[in-house]
Amino acid sequence: MEPDYSRQIALKEIGAAGQALLERSRVLVVGAGGLGSPVLQYLAGAGVGSLTVIDHDTLDPSNLHRQPLYALEDAGRPKAALAAAALAKLNPRVRVEVRAERFGPANALDLVAGHDLVVECSDNFRTKFLVNDAAVLAARPVVFASAYQYEGQLQVYKPDREHACLRCLWPEAAADGVVGNCAQAGVLGPVPGALGAMQAVLALELLLGIGTQLRGEVLLIDFLEFTTLKLRAPRHHACDAPRCCRVRAIEPEDPGLEVTLESLDEAAARGWTVVDVRSAEEVVVRPAAGRHCPVAQLLAAETPLAREVEYVLVCATGTRSLAAARALRRRGYSVRSLAGGLARFDRGR
Ligand SMILES: [Zn+2]
Repeated sequence: MEPDYSRQIALKEIGAAGQALLERSRVLVVGAGGLGSPVLQYLAGAGVGSLTVIDHDTLDPSNLHRQPLYALEDAGRPKAALAAAALAKLNPRVRVEVRAERFGPANALDLVAGHDLVVECSDNFRTKFLVNDAAVLAARPVVFASAYQYEGQLQVYKPDREHACLRCLWPEAAADGVVGNCAQAGVLGPVPGALGAMQAVLALELLLGIGTQLRGEVLLIDFLEFTTLKLRAPRHHACDAPRCCRVRAIEPEDPGLEVTLESLDEAAARGWTVVDVRSAEEVVVRPAAGRHCPVAQLLAAETPLAREVEYVLVCATGTRSLAAARALRRRGYSVRSLAGGLARFDRGR
């Protein structure tokens, strides 16, 4: 059976010419999680010619409340490949390229420059700023979104005078991923789903050149009060981009920074002191694995860590511990991060 786009071709802003434009378009989707799933589904459904999905992660059962693109039986399998398989069923005409790897300094520029548009669906600031910088340097538009508990925000970057880049709004951002993300802080499943659907709307409008595309604005949405707020966010006159964009200068990940363990006993066997960096609230729900020290305290000027001790940091899913380990290594401490966090030990329980 052939895909049928008649219901969108019927829109006077699209028509056959707009549809042909979509079919010639190449879109990069960074992250195939709560935001990325609906983005990929809607763009494939719309007949965007070529989609690249990059995601290094595997499916965890705790993902499914916000990622209904996947199935429980696929837990443990790489999400990029699972997404591609689902999209092939939805629209076999769309070419989907699978990149089951991390979006990082080594591949950022080539990936971004090789597409017409980027939809940024990661859950961490490091990746968002890396996408931002690559997009500024390669002069490509990006649709950004983030979801947190019951809230979200949307922003569009375009290489023009009216759209702000992330560095216009957050010039001092550490781009570190230390701030909580949905995996640890909790999120209502359809919140990233709704934001991802809105990213898909913006992506299609950008490809088609219609609508106002959040020009000079950031949209904030509160899903408890059902209020929206548009903040003025014009391109900052003092924005230093592209000179401040540091794609190449962001150091490649230290290979020993993340470790995979079968159990925490293995850490002890290797002589590593386990430090649980989750919040006090999280520790109430699940007791601390080893010594407890929340991220903020750990990264304070007077960190309680000792120079001569070897540490492994753990958190819920391995995002905050990785960011903290990265920062502490720069300060000369012997730290590493448990890949996948405590969630990894829950598999198959
Ligand atoms: Zn800027």
